[in-house]
Amino acid sequence: MSQTIIVIGAGQAATEFAVALRGGGFAGPIRILGDEPYLPYQRPPLSKDFLSGKSPYEKLMLRPESFWREQKIEFELGATATAIDRAKRAVALRDGRSFEYGTLVIATGTRARIPPVPGIELEGVFTLRNIDDVKRLRPALDGAKRVAIVGGGYIGLEVAAVARSEGREVVVVEAEERVMKRVTCAEVSAFYESKHRAHGVDIRAGHKLEAIEGNGRASGLLLAGGERVAADLVLVSTGARPNEELASATDLACEDGILVNEFARTADERIYAIGDCTHFPSRRYGRKIRLECVQNAFDQGKAAAAAILGKGTPYDPVPWFWSDQYNVKFQSAGLSAGYDEAKVVGDPAAGHFSVEYRKGGKLIAVDAINDARAYMMGRKRIGEETR
Ligand SMILES: Cc1cc2nc3c(=O)[nH]c(=O)nc-3n(C[C@H](O)[C@H](O)[C@H](O)COP(=O)(O)OP(=O)(O)OC[C@H]3O[C@@H](n4cnc5c(N)ncnc54)[C@H](O)[C@@H]3O)c2cc1C
Repeated sequence: MSQTIIVIGAGQAATEFAVALRGGGFAGPIRILGDEPYLPYQRPPLSKDFLSGKSPYEKLMLRPESFWREQKIEFELGATATAIDRAKRAVALRDGRSFEYGTLVIATGTRARIPPVPGIELEGVFTLRNIDDVKRLRPALDGAKRVAIVGGGYIGLEVAAVARSEGREVVVVEAEERVMKRVTCAEVSAFYESKHRAHGVDIRAGHKLEAIEGNGRASGLLLAGGERVAADLVLVSTGARPNEELASATDLACEDGILVNEFARTADERIYAIGDCTHFPSRRYGRKIRLECVQNAFDQGKAAAAAILGKGTPYDPVPWFWSDQYNVKFQSAGLSAGYDEAKVVGDPAAGHFSVEYRKGGKLIAVDAINDARAYMMGRKRIGEETR
């Protein structure tokens, strides 16, 4: 029976997992199967400095090729896993090959959520999840005068900031009544809306996309209510869905993500799952959560490695996240959903403030805007108060 540890997905979580496993003393074969043609890279710059051209391709890479060679961690790139055979302990690839595993780790991340609207297939409509998306988007952006962004979450707003900084006209259409509603309070949303408006972005919150219009090529948006927005480039940024189908097809439970326990293990003791594609119990927050952030990819990857090495401890993070828009650094710690009190500390008008979220008197989350100290202190206190 194979001793090989196979990882499906060659992203951030796979990287941290493999590095921690090797670093922790696992001497056997580690093979990472990635459907993209690239060695593991960071995604955050894709909507920030890499998109704007401020940061080169080489800086995206999480580790140089020489590192992987030295560590004897093997890659199959451009290799899409299509099925897991739990009885045979094997993973089948689209190209017909199959690899046996001793332990399998699923680290397949997420993909863009595509709204089922007419015109979504038109030329000039983009999503942004990976390097190839940027390779398509960047030249189109260079030729675009008027950019429409569907979705006022972090990624949509970061791209809005990049496009606007290049002098393009930018419209952001958000179905909710305010941007970033899923993750933050009204004060922070209002701060970002006014920041973008001050830079000249047209923010249309409370507007639902009905269709993307155009004859072969996108020429604008049709909004519910009949309003039209002209655009020669449309970025659809309406969230992400976990890549969980490989797991569900082999009868591993999924529920908006692959269900794993606090050691990142599925119901099959030989199969783990890590990163954006997982849904896991948080004792700290009293519910199951799915996170889409570097912190989780990093820490859950390490937690799975420790568990496989027999040194596991329950994984129950205080999540953290950041976003860069213009000269504003947003940092958040904890999860604010379900808060019963949000206290603004500092002055939003001065562009330097934080928001403390409490539930039952306990600090559960902090959002900090250009305030690294509030973020650091908040993160520490959340850890103590939600323990
Ligand atoms: C544009 C953008 C900006 C972001 N900005 C931030 C930020 O500012 N801060 C932050 O904390 N987080 C940010 N994130 C989120 C962060 O990048 C993710 O949380 C992190 O990459 C998750 O790591 P992962 O390994 O779980 O998934 P990924 O890094 O997505 O890697 C999964 C890999 O698995 C591959 N895969 C999927 N299915 C298969 C298959 N069947 N066979 C083989 N390979 C497969 C995928 O193609 C992908 O390469 C951003 C994400 C994006 C897209």
